[in-house]
Formats: sequence, C-alpha cells, structure tokens
Amino acid sequence: MSYDVIIVGAGPAGATAALFANRMGLNCILLDKAVFPRDKICGDALSGKSVRIMNELGILDEVAKLEGAEINRITFGSPNNKQFDINLLGSKNKDQIKKGFVIPRQIFDNYLFEKANEVTDSRQGFSVKEIILDEDQVVGVRGKSKTGELEEFHAPLILGCDGYNSIVARKLGLYEMDMDNTSVAVRCYYEGVKDLTDQIELHYVKEVNPGYFWLFPAGNGKANIGVGLSKSDMKKERRTLRQIMDEITQSDYFKERFSDAVQLEKPVGWNLPVGSKHRKNHGNGFLLLGDAAGLIDPFTGEGIGNAMVSGKYAMEIAAKSKVSGDYSESALAEYDALLWGEIGKELKTSTKLQSMARSQFLLNFVINRAARNEEVQHIISGMLLNEIPKDELGGPLFYLKILFL
Ligand SMILES: Cc1cc2nc3c(=O)[nH]c(=O)nc-3n(C[C@H](O)[C@H](O)[C@H](O)COP(=O)(O)OP(=O)(O)OC[C@H]3O[C@@H](n4cnc5c(N)ncnc54)[C@H](O)[C@@H]3O)c2cc1C
Repeated sequence: MSYDVIIVGAGPAGATAALFANRMGLNCILLDKAVFPRDKICGDALSGKSVRIMNELGILDEVAKLEGAEINRITFGSPNNKQFDINLLGSKNKDQIKKGFVIPRQIFDNYLFEKANEVTDSRQGFSVKEIILDEDQVVGVRGKSKTGELEEFHAPLILGCDGYNSIVARKLGLYEMDMDNTSVAVRCYYEGVKDLTDQIELHYVKEVNPGYFWLFPAGNGKANIGVGLSKSDMKKERRTLRQIMDEITQSDYFKERFSDAVQLEKPVGWNLPVGSKHRKNHGNGFLLLGDAAGLIDPFTGEGIGNAMVSGKYAMEIAAKSKVSGDYSESALAEYDALLWGEIGKELKTSTKLQSMARSQFLLNFVINRAARNEEVQHIISGMLLNEIPKDELGGPLFYLKILFL
C-alpha cells in the first residue's frame, strides 16, 4: 500500500505528526507495535510547549477534561532542602498558557492516538522490523501484524517516531547508545502522598546528586513519583534506582509526606535520550522525531513537548517535499534547521543547567537565593517561562547577578 508518509510509532511525536499531516492534506498511515491504551513509563507532566501545541491543534479543552491534575506551579528544591516556586499564573507573557497538566500516559497517549485515528489510516499491533530501500533511498517499511503476517507499506517519506529504541534509527545507522547523553529514570504510581496540590516538584536532592527526584500529582489522589540520573553516573552507583527512591522517600525531609503512602506498582525504569547532543535526525527519505531523535530536555527530563514540536516541523517539510518531489537528505535537512532553530537554544541552556546541577554548592546557592529573594525568583521564573532571554541562565553572569541582588 502506498502513502505520502509512513509514521512509525504513535506516541506523542507520531500522533502529533498525524494530526498535522491531516491539516496539510497528506495521506498517512500511523503504525504502532502496541495496542492502545498502552502504558509508557513517564512522569506524565505536560507543560509549556506541549500545551502550546495542543492549543494549536485545537485539542486543549478536551485534554483538560481527561483524568489527571491541572498544574499551576513548578517547585524546585535544593540539596539542602530549600525550595522556591515558579507560578505559571504569574507569567507576564500574554502568549504563555498559564497552566500545565499531569495526565497518565495510558490516558493521554490513548486520547492522542484516537484523535489521530479519526483522520488517518492506522495499524495497532503492527511491529516494524525492516526498512525498505531503493538504492540508498528509504521507500517503505516491512513488519509483522498482530496475527503474525508480514506486510509492507510504501511511501517516499518515513518518520521514525518509535522512541528510545527506534528501529528506524537502528536500521539506518543512526542509533547510538551514548552514556553521557542518556539518562535513566524509574517511575512509580503512589496513593496517599501528602501535600500535592497544583504543583509539580523537581528536587535536586543530596541522595542522588547529580540527579533529580520528582513528585507530581496525577489526579484521583494518585501521585507519579520518580528519580532519574545520567546513565554514566548510574554506572558508578552501587545502589539501584529503586533503592535510591526508597532512601529519598524515607529521608528526614520527605518521610512525613510518604508516611501514609502506598505504592500502586513496582517502580519501573526506562531510558531518556537527552538533547545535550545534537544527533543526526534525517537522511534520504526519512526523518527521526521525538525520543528517536534524542530531544529530551536534559535538565527537566521533559520530552513530550519537543516530540510534538518535531511532529509539526516534520509535516511542514513533508508537505514541501510532496510539492517539490525531492526527498533527498539535503532537501530534508530543512527539518533539522527548523527544529533545532526552535529548540536548540533552550536545550543548550538546559545542558548548562544540567552541568550546574552536578554541583550541590551551586544548586544550594541558586535555589537558596531564589527561596529568600523575590527578585531572584522573578529572574529565574522569567527565564524559564521565556519572558527574559535565557542565554545567561547557568552562566557566570547569571551567578554574579543573583549574588548582588
Ligand atoms: C521515567 C521517565 C519520565 C519522564 N517524564 C516526562 C515528563 O514528565 N514529561 C515529559 O514531557 N517527558 C517525560 N519523559 C520523556 C517522554 O516520556 C518522552 O520524551 C516521550 O514519550 C517521547 O515521545 P515519542 O513519541 O518520541 O516516543 P514514545 O512515547 O516512546 O512512543 C514511541 C512509540 O513507538 C512505538 N514503537 C516502538 N517500536 C516500534 C516498532 N518497531 N514498530 C512500531 N511501533 C513501534 C511504541 O509502541 C510507542 O508507542 C520521561 C521519560 C521517562 C523514561
């Protein structure tokens, strides 16, 4: 069967791409090896960028009604247990949507998939196994359906939206297991964690430095709790991530909040390919999106927003290529330029912040200043909410500025 575009993977990158494809009049098929609803190990937080893309797609009001929690604040905590909040409602940026969400991926991804399925062909339970090449040009995929039959689909453009383990990236020689630019994290749903209201919390705690611990309300009295660090740091650890999580939840600072808490599952882990490295994401007849392209924010661990942004740009380029008939690597390079033109600066800043987060001294210094001084809070909030240029964040000038405020 022949299409304009084959989308491999129906997570946020693939489903968003399908929704933009429909707007551009492109004929697509969306393939996923899973059958929805399916779980995806994640913190489930949808902030700024994801919300903006959902608004652009006209689905934000429906998403807001899904089971989960609405978020109005982001709390940052330091190794010496000081904390400060960024209030999304206080943003002066009129274009900023002043809320975020935590929606379990089982629910959110199923919603996005169903939405995409209304406007595009799709196959669930279809696992892509091979890439079909015509000389050095990708022209299709071959895979196995739920019933075990081998099937082929053909298109001049294939989108690899198939996550961290991307078969598309592997088969085309772009998959790299890069310890320094990949993090690993565990998630566990809990019930009964205290003091979770409308805030997501990221704590840079001493029990996992460098690394972070998150507490997110997930709706209906549930919480999404997790801990993550870089793979190269994990390699040096003698503890497992589950042990680290237990240490943090039983620490003097957090144990009261977990005194009545019950784990709803065994903590489960997965990898996060982070955008501290600009990986190659295109070639003759194909593009890589979302986690397959390694677009996760290295400081916050958020990847859904950038996955959705990559879906949008991929379809802009797909529409152009359909007109020109040019699907060569050089024509598709514009995807990389558009995508990294939007997210590159931010990922650079987050990489700087990730380096800062390796130093307990600097984390304590910045978060303690912000906890005590409103002006410092405004500067950091403004930078993180894109109201003040972020370039200085995490650089020497930034530390000097907040020292003298
Ligand atoms: C522990 C953890 C916590 C995180 N917390 C957050 C957070 O709070 N907020 C946030 O924004 N991001 C978070 N992230 C990152 C986020 O989960 C990813 O960035 C996001 O899921 C990327 O979306 P994607 O569509 O690129 O890939 P995925 O969501 O991984 O989707 C890939 C899809 O491809 C399908 N697939 C794979 N192989 C094949 C194949 N061979 N054939 C067909 N289909 C295939 C899979 O079934 C899947 O549905 C977290 C990640 C982890 C690991």
